Amino acid sequence: MSRARRTLSVLVVQQEDYERKRLAELLSGAAAEVRTARDGREGLNRYHAAEPDILVTDILLPRLDGLDLIRAVRRDRADAQIIATFGPYNPKTLLQAVECDVQAFLRLPVNPGRLLAAVRRCARNIAMHRRLAQADYSLRHMLDLFPGPALLARGNDVVYANRRICSFFGHADHEAMSRLDLGIEDFLVSLNHEPYSGLPGEWIDAIVNDPLDREHVVQLENPRTPSARPSAFAVTFNPFPDSDLRVFTFQDVSELEEEKARLRDEASTDPLTRALNRRSFLRLLDRHMFSGKPFSLIMFDIDHFKSINDTYGHDVGDAVLREISALVRENIRETDTLARWGGEEFMVLAGNSAPDRAAHEAERLRSAVAEFAFTGVPGQITSSFGVARHVLGEDQETLLKRVDQALYQAKENGRNRIVLDEK
Ligand code: GH3
Ligand code: MG
Ligand code: MG
Repeated sequence: MSRARRTLSVLVVQQEDYERKRLAELLSGAAAEVRTARDGREGLNRYHAAEPDILVTDILLPRLDGLDLIRAVRRDRADAQIIATFGPYNPKTLLQAVECDVQAFLRLPVNPGRLLAAVRRCARNIAMHRRLAQADYSLRHMLDLFPGPALLARGNDVVYANRRICSFFGHADHEAMSRLDLGIEDFLVSLNHEPYSGLPGEWIDAIVNDPLDREHVVQLENPRTPSARPSAFAVTFNPFPDSDLRVFTFQDVSELEEEKARLRDEASTDPLTRALNRRSFLRLLDRHMFSGKPFSLIMFDIDHFKSINDTYGHDVGDAVLREISALVRENIRETDTLARWGGEEFMVLAGNSAPDRAAHEAERLRSAVAEFAFTGVPGQITSSFGVARHVLGEDQETLLKRVDQALYQAKENGRNRIVLDEK
């Protein structure tokens, strides 16, 4: 108390001259500074001007009511220390006062012992808040010493971003970023490979409360090099015991992520044609069936390919496979996917809703192939097409069988044509 007493400042807001003076006198022994005000408006002005440690106010005041004064102060400072006094007993007002969240209620005329006990309690709270602020300061300092990017968050609020992370964004420190009202959200491109468009702090919630407890990767855009690819960081967090503080640390994994993407790419594509391989195509097909969105399959097979191999050699055959893949890729829509089903058989997954759209698309592909001059092959090369539209609820096997049958029909009917399996 003695140390607190040397520094404590109090504001007394009381309409009654006698009570105001008495309170000020009683408090002068416990606080270094005691200011007074006669009504709510004056009280609020003085509170803002002097920022006292403790507000002692009556709940009934002229001009601005005591309850409104308490609410206004509390709005600005959640940790404000407030002692409320009340005179004539009025249960309704008192009930409202209770809801205002104050540190103590004292009946007028106040009992000096109770007043001092309440002040002591407030002083303890203040000292605790100061210690916490001091601890925060030490923590910030430590985070700045930490070599990598790191954040301190309380709940979902980032309360401190260390120098390393701020300099990544091109700012001197957290204060400089706060002045510009910038947060990590402004640079967050994706979270776990999904584009991020969440509210501030939502990413924290997603990471902390991830039911799968995955390793989390965020992509952060570096505004200093806007053309460069966003950097990828693995995020880990550590909670503090008995508090909602957490430290988030970021490890740059951009190279690793790029390597992973390259490997994923390699594992999912056919090396000769760069089309999706069969395994990955089946996975894609699964996802489409699950999504419930309409789509069609176009399956095609090069006509008399064996004789191309036999006549011009296997290398020419390979070149034809490469060229036909490139040609088809150029002639399908961006949302469509080409896969090599095997040998000289290919699949196109065409996401669309119009039933005849895939047939049109297949027809376009057919004529593009038939008109194309393939390297090392003097004559025309043609292919046959089967088309089937997925029916809601249909399983993969049935759909694949239908499109295969359609392709078989196209071959039977004379090749270089399309057959649409209508179901
Ligand atoms: P159809 O019109 O009935 O489809 O006749 P086709 O000759 O195209 O069919 P068939 O299934 O008899 O022959 C396919 C040929 O494709 C046989 C195989 O050697 C060849 N082939 C499969 N994969 C490759 C490859 O990667 N490169 C090369 N050059 N040829 C391949
Ligand atoms: Mg063939
Ligand atoms: Mg074949």
